[in-house]
Amino acid sequence: MALIIGALVQIAPVAAQDSSFGALARVDMVQTRLDDTRDGLRLGLGLTQGVPFRVFTLDGPPRLVLDFREVDWRGADAGMIDWAERARAVRMGAFRPGWSRMVVDLAGPYAVESANATTDHETGGVLIEVELTEIDAEAFAARAGAPPLPGWEDVQGGLPAVKRARQAGEERLLVVLDPGHGGIDPGAEREGHNEKNLMLRFARELREVLLRAGGFDVALTRENDEFVSLERRVAIAQQLGADVFISLHADALSEGRAHGATVYTLADSASDEASAALAERHNRAGILAGVDLTKADDIVAGVLIDLARQETGPRADRLARAIRLGIEEQGLPLHSRPLREAGFSVLKSADIPSVLVELGFLSSQKDRDNLLDDAWRARMANGIRDALIAWRMADAAAARLVRQ
Ligand SMILES: [Zn+2]
Repeated sequence: MALIIGALVQIAPVAAQDSSFGALARVDMVQTRLDDTRDGLRLGLGLTQGVPFRVFTLDGPPRLVLDFREVDWRGADAGMIDWAERARAVRMGAFRPGWSRMVVDLAGPYAVESANATTDHETGGVLIEVELTEIDAEAFAARAGAPPLPGWEDVQGGLPAVKRARQAGEERLLVVLDPGHGGIDPGAEREGHNEKNLMLRFARELREVLLRAGGFDVALTRENDEFVSLERRVAIAQQLGADVFISLHADALSEGRAHGATVYTLADSASDEASAALAERHNRAGILAGVDLTKADDIVAGVLIDLARQETGPRADRLARAIRLGIEEQGLPLHSRPLREAGFSVLKSADIPSVLVELGFLSSQKDRDNLLDDAWRARMANGIRDALIAWRMADAAAARLVRQ
C-alpha cells in the first residue's frame, strides 16, 4: 500500500544559473494539467522557477490546496488546466501579500499520496507533481488541514481587540471600509469587469471623500488585490476599534432584472430568498478560497447574532436608513426594496454597527455603466459621506435618550 501523507511543505530549489531570479515565478502552461488516474487524480504544475510551497487537503467540501510564494498567474487558464472528471473546479490567484494559492474542488475524498518538485537544471523551471488517491471519508477528514509554512504568519492572531466607548457625536469617527472579495475570489464578473477591483477603487475614492470632509478616520480591510477572509475583515474592524463598518459590494444575479442600490443589515433569518442566497454565496467565499471552515461553530455564531442585535442592531438599522437616504438625495437609483436583512458573516461584530451596501448589480447594464462612471461614483461617495455625518448626530442623540 502506498504511503498517504496529509500534507507536504517543501522549498523547491532555485537553480543557480536562473537569470530570472528575483522576478515572480510564472506558470508554464505546457506542463500544467489536472488528469484523472486509475484511482485518483494527478496534478502537474510547471513554474518558471522554484518557490516555497505547501500542499494539503481540506474537508467540508473536499478541496486540494497549494500555497506558493507569489506566482504570476497571467496566461494561466483554469479551463485549460482541468481535464479531470474528479476535479469540479480549479481557481488560482493572490491569497495574501506575497503568497498565491491554487484550489481544486474535489469530487470526493481524494488524499495526497505524493507531492514532488523536480528542477530542470537547463531552464531553472520546476515541475510540481501531486498524486491523489481515493480514501474513505473519515480518513480524509482526519488528514485534512494546513501544515505550517515558514514565513506564513497569521495576521489574524495576536492583536487584541480595541474596546472603544460608543461615539457621542463629538470625536472623530473611525470608519472601516471593506471592499468585498479580492485575490483568488473575484466576486461577480461581467463583461470583463469584476466586483473585487470595482469595489477596491470605490473604497479608495470614498476614503478620499471622507478624509476631505474632516471628522473621519478611515481604514480599509484590504489595500490591494488580495484575499481577506470574512473573519479577518471582522477582526480588523475590532482590532482598530471601528465606530462603523461598511462592506462594499456589487454582485450579479442570474435571474431577474434587479438594479439599484441595496443596504443590508444582519439578521439570523433573511428578509427574502434573494437576500438569503446572496448571504449564503458571500459566506461561502472562504470555501472558494480554500479556507478551513470545519472548525466554525454555528451555536456560537447564533449567540453572537443575538447579542449583536440587542444594542448594535438598532444603531446599524439607523445607519442603513441614513445611507439609503443619502443615496436617494443624490438622485441615484435604489433597488425596489432597498433595505434588507440577511445572515452575512462579515456583519457579525457584536459592538460595531455594520452594514453591507450593494452599490448596484454587475448583472445590470445600467448599474455596470454607473459603476464605471467617475461622476456617478463621486455622487455615491458623497451620499455615503452625508449619511455618515447625519448618522453620527442621530446615533449620539439616541445614546443620550437611552441614558436618561
Ligand atoms: Zn459581493
